Amino acid sequence: MSPALPEATSFRVAPERLLGTRLRQLGLAPDMNVTTHSNTTVMLSVTARGQLRLHRGYGHAPDRVLRAILRFIDARQPRERRRAAEREFLSFPVHMYAPSRKGPVRLERLRPGDEAVLQRLREMHRGLNVQWFDGTLADIPFRLSSRMRISLGELCLDARSKEVISIAISRRHLRRHGWAEVEHTVLHEMVHQWQAETARPVDHGREFRIKAREVGIAPAARRAVVKAGAAGAARR
Ligand SMILES: [Zn+2]
Repeated sequence: MSPALPEATSFRVAPERLLGTRLRQLGLAPDMNVTTHSNTTVMLSVTARGQLRLHRGYGHAPDRVLRAILRFIDARQPRERRRAAEREFLSFPVHMYAPSRKGPVRLERLRPGDEAVLQRLREMHRGLNVQWFDGTLADIPFRLSSRMRISLGELCLDARSKEVISIAISRRHLRRHGWAEVEHTVLHEMVHQWQAETARPVDHGREFRIKAREVGIAPAARRAVVKAGAAGAARR
């Protein structure tokens, strides 16, 4: 038997679709847009354009937690009160209600040959950073993942600070698609890194598409990856 879930609210429609309405009933400014995501590391963010982005698991949270979210995003609240509010909404276990597709980030043991691959990825990142971003992006660790089966790459961000932690590359991608495709993936993740480091929302929106074209990669999150005569869609 699985352990009982903590206090939560249940709904008949997809609960994340009610989040905006519930938050507004609790006092959210009516002009603030609410969107949800299932990113594993960023629980909540407010974009420069005044959009509130929340993990969709908060759709299951009781009003108490939603009120904490409202206190946290209210800049007029005293710092200590916002801190306490942050602790409160971060303690709600969103992943139990809306599990991510890939599960939490877990570090994998290095395998023989990994160090050479990681070295090549770091050098690739350095070169592309100079070529397309004027060298402004931070050096970032790479990790290889055998758990990523659909995604080719992923930028990991810290939940609180929104700082970039690492870029993960799928081992399967490395094995199957060759370095030209991997370079495309690295650039894609670097555009996300640029979004994160310039305090933009990390997504595949308009700014992403513009920047992607600028650095010469396909602007879509999905695109065909050719593999030994067959083509399949893959997510980055
Ligand atoms: Zn992406």
